[in-house]
Amino acid sequence: MTAGSLIDLKNLTMEELSALLAEMGQKPFRAKQIVRWIYGRGATSFADMTDLSKAFREELEKRATISDWQPEVVEDSRDGTRKYLFRLADGQTVETVRIPMEGERATLCISTQVGCAMQCSFCLTGSFGLVRNLEAGEIVNQVCAALKDGPINNIVLMGMGEPLHNLDNVVKALQIFYLDDGFGYGARKVTLSTSGLVPQMRELGQRVRVNLAVSLNATTDAVRDELMPVNRRYPLKELMAACRDYPLHGRGRITFEYILIRGVNDTLQDAKRLVGLLHGVKAKVNLIPYNEHEGSPFNAPTAESIEAFQTYLLSRDIVAIRRASKGQDISAACGQLKGKLEKAQGRLPAPGENSPA
Ligand code: SAH
Ligand code: SF4
Repeated sequence: MTAGSLIDLKNLTMEELSALLAEMGQKPFRAKQIVRWIYGRGATSFADMTDLSKAFREELEKRATISDWQPEVVEDSRDGTRKYLFRLADGQTVETVRIPMEGERATLCISTQVGCAMQCSFCLTGSFGLVRNLEAGEIVNQVCAALKDGPINNIVLMGMGEPLHNLDNVVKALQIFYLDDGFGYGARKVTLSTSGLVPQMRELGQRVRVNLAVSLNATTDAVRDELMPVNRRYPLKELMAACRDYPLHGRGRITFEYILIRGVNDTLQDAKRLVGLLHGVKAKVNLIPYNEHEGSPFNAPTAESIEAFQTYLLSRDIVAIRRASKGQDISAACGQLKGKLEKAQGRLPAPGENSPA
């Protein structure tokens, strides 16, 4: 992204930053210094970078900028979940959620697109349609902004958007997260969630290391076709084959997210079919009770069906975690804060109508 003709350094990988500096006649180690300032210490101006010469800083200012985000809205939940809404340079908005974990730990859930093209029938973000991809710097800035409120141990690409539908920018952002001199996140700390774009799953595995989560949500093609249109292109058999082939490291497993929707996919038959699907896959299952939202035809499951589903998986030695629904009081499900804010501002059509132009 450029601001005027200035290059935003948050959009650049180490290679790209080094190339820019080489053009300016600088040595490669300068790139590390700058990365340390921006991500290690949160610097937002070249003036802060006191170990660079004044002449070099002035030169940088002529060519480049360091974008810096402040949230437009912050909502805090009673359970400690914090949701941020950011307004982008073109007026669009994205949301990011900080989720407190055990101890003093926190996970940050970040967005990769404004809206989403995948049209899953249960998902509020899907009902917005795709507005645009986020740039690498816009993905990275969600982390920079949230870090101002305290440390973040894990990053999940599970907010708005389908990360594999914006693969180039997502790969760049991951490379930036992993920079030793910057944030220094290990690849084991970052998880990317996909609805199941099979060719891009394979490409991802070849290009970069990251934990994979797959939004499965159904155990038959008939039901998955209805819930997730992507299944018509890449049905379960192909999806599970891509999961089996995904490169895992050490004791790594693929996380399968399974939203339980009352009367749709929450029976014991589904649990049994799920065990069959996962055969031969190093897997763990996250059971997510469906989060109801306005305009959605679906309902949350009963406590009994969640219990029975989980118990069955556990009895078949499948690691099945029931994901606590956090931030219920602050519209923390995917797309909900954006939906609420923009509806109040008259910017968005009701869920189910077409996306805004
Ligand atoms: N597009 C990617 C990542 C973002 S969606 C994907 O689909 O995996 C993140 C997760 O939110 C997905 O697992 C999706 O199934 C889930 N989700 C969407 N709407 C939901 C709702 N109303 N209740 C519970 N989970 C929901
Ligand atoms: Fe997009 Fe994921 Fe929502 Fe499906 S569940 S519409 S892929 S954000």
